[in-house]
Amino acid sequence: MSSLSNYDKHSQATKAVWAGEKPYRVHGASQVPLVHSVAYTYDDLDHWYEVAIGNAYGHIYGRNTNPTVESFEEKMRILEGAEAATSFSTGMAAISNSLHTFLRPGDRIVTIKDTYGGTNKIFSEFLPKLNIDITFCDTGEHEQVEKEIAKGCQLVYLETPTNPTVKVTDIERMVKAAKAQNALIFVDNTFATPLNQNPLKYGVDLVIHSATKFLGGHADALGGVICGNKDLVEKVFHYREINGATMDPNAAYFMIRGLKTLDLRITRQCESAQKIAEYLQQHPLVEDVFYPGLKDHSHHDIAKKQMKRFGGMLSFSMKNGMAAVKEFLPKLELANRAANLGAVETTVGPARTTSHVENTPEERKELGIPESLVRYSVGIEDVDDLINDIEQAFSYVTK
Ligand SMILES: *Cc1c(COP(=O)(O)O)cnc(C)c1O
Repeated sequence: MSSLSNYDKHSQATKAVWAGEKPYRVHGASQVPLVHSVAYTYDDLDHWYEVAIGNAYGHIYGRNTNPTVESFEEKMRILEGAEAATSFSTGMAAISNSLHTFLRPGDRIVTIKDTYGGTNKIFSEFLPKLNIDITFCDTGEHEQVEKEIAKGCQLVYLETPTNPTVKVTDIERMVKAAKAQNALIFVDNTFATPLNQNPLKYGVDLVIHSATKFLGGHADALGGVICGNKDLVEKVFHYREINGATMDPNAAYFMIRGLKTLDLRITRQCESAQKIAEYLQQHPLVEDVFYPGLKDHSHHDIAKKQMKRFGGMLSFSMKNGMAAVKEFLPKLELANRAANLGAVETTVGPARTTSHVENTPEERKELGIPESLVRYSVGIEDVDDLINDIEQAFSYVTK
């Protein structure tokens, strides 16, 4: 990986626009070109060999590296303040490849109960088959997590804020606990994005993102990315280049374009989420509202300490349960009812159909996810329009 400017003197918003692009803009292009080539040609056999064995910079084959993909990785590396970054076909590939790179039979993982549904399935269904022991702690119960870590483990896996009830874990505190056991610690930073939270700053080993969500931002490309120190990221890169969950250059192009407006989008989405959460909180049809920006959120103080803004995701439950949700959700005009989040359009869905569709009702209950929980990913629409839309949809709910 070539050493590039970190745009250190600039703010994150500026880095999102400019960082990681210059060496890739060939022919004077003002944008990073989409390179579709699977393989790269060499007339000089010695040079080809040097590149192939990693002694010289260059590209060999698309499963390993690609210039467009690399430019995206550079942008993310700089935004997370990392030594290195590598990318994947999806967020789940980023998570599974990172886990499989480091875990061995007999290892123990300490994690929280409400990680993303797919992540939870890796822990509950696939890793136990490899004789890996997983301990699930109540999310946000810091003392319980610390106690479990202190019993000894190889990996601590966190997500903060979580999907879908937006619970928050104190990253700095968990790093301390993990490091005392010489355990690795990974954080899924999808909900916060690198503009709102940089877990590496607190000593986290790997930061993981589903780029499909806020980073791309337009719900039209899948991807994943990890950032961390060079040694760890290179190990995961090697696992990925052999096992093949490579990001498609098309997706990388969309991600680069999406990242340019990340700060604009996130600023709007976070401001609107706060207003919508406060509106919902005082609404008689609403039972509970989950948003870390609310003063009575159980970990508002931790969120304030480690996050720049509180994110564009919120969720809420309704007093009349699923019956009310069934009356309300179909009437929203300004929302895609879909299993996605982080898009420019507002996206909604019941948790039982979206993030936690893989879980049984009993598992969701255990996870503290009400069956009637509505996940509301705030888009970039005008916030008054969104609130009016919710208001008119509420009018269809039987009192
Ligand atoms: C969506 C999501 C993932 C998985 O990402 P994909 O790109 O869908 O594979 C992982 N973690 C979180 C928090 C997510 O929201």
